Amino acid sequence: MVKYSEVIVLKDKLANGEIRLEAAQAQFWNDFKEGQRSWHTKDWHERRSQFIKDKCEICGSNDTLTLQHLSHPIRYSEYLRDITREYANQHINTNPVVDKYEFSNYVLNKYDYVPVPFCPNCNNSNPDKRVRKLPQYRCTACRHEFDNPVYRSVDELISIFFDNKDAMEVRDKCFISKDEWGNKHNLSNIRYWFQREQAKNKDAEKIAKEAFLLYLNDTIKYLSFDDTITACKKCAFHFDINKMDLCPKCKQYYKGLQYPTCIQCLPEERRKTVLESIAFRKDWREMNQQPGMD
Ligand SMILES: [Zn+2]
Ligand SMILES: [Zn+2]
Ligand SMILES: [Zn+2]
Repeated sequence: MVKYSEVIVLKDKLANGEIRLEAAQAQFWNDFKEGQRSWHTKDWHERRSQFIKDKCEICGSNDTLTLQHLSHPIRYSEYLRDITREYANQHINTNPVVDKYEFSNYVLNKYDYVPVPFCPNCNNSNPDKRVRKLPQYRCTACRHEFDNPVYRSVDELISIFFDNKDAMEVRDKCFISKDEWGNKHNLSNIRYWFQREQAKNKDAEKIAKEAFLLYLNDTIKYLSFDDTITACKKCAFHFDINKMDLCPKCKQYYKGLQYPTCIQCLPEERRKTVLESIAFRKDWREMNQQPGMD
């Protein structure tokens, strides 16, 4: 696996266009799959020993010290999705007009259509179907009663959609994607995915490169040990499992990472409210657990 110093060189080369994306990815991933902890190499262990301090940076203890990362690299696939979304939105803003013929082909290729019945009077969808009463259908919107609901073909729906994207008839999610997800979409949803695919096809290489550069940046940050702290066994446990660290004020109690201090160290008034609310919740729970209460 690539060393820290090698990842930096690789990133610079890719950013400057000295190496192509596929070559960079091949070199970086080499023979391992993303997600495996393959940066725990000899290089990693050697560098780690330079960064680990001789006591816990949270409480000062020296019981089983470990290096805790304050952040972890985001996966390449997540970056790819985010960047694709950005490109799609940009593409949609700059190319608001969609070709009807291409769009129709896309719909027919990618989706199964499950026709929805419409009221012949007001175009509201899915009228009540009655078991005994005739006429069999009654519109839930206009109360019109009828024997034969209206059905629309895909072509008709697309024409209606191109005339008015907010028309009654095109609101239902009556298209099911043929891929493994089987998503239910209406024509507005499909138009987004259609345009997103256009953006993706147009800039596939650029998108992948941007995403991979961000991913390499993350990896470099991770391997640099810049965002690590040395923690003892107890603090590492609180940090990892409970998302807590030691209160900086009293250095005695643990607190949630998102809070500035522990409850004990809050200003008098604030502490009283918090403790009361905790006591109240506790009482309330106990009260509800008492037998015979219902
Ligand atoms: Zn500690
Ligand atoms: Zn109706
Ligand atoms: Zn405290």
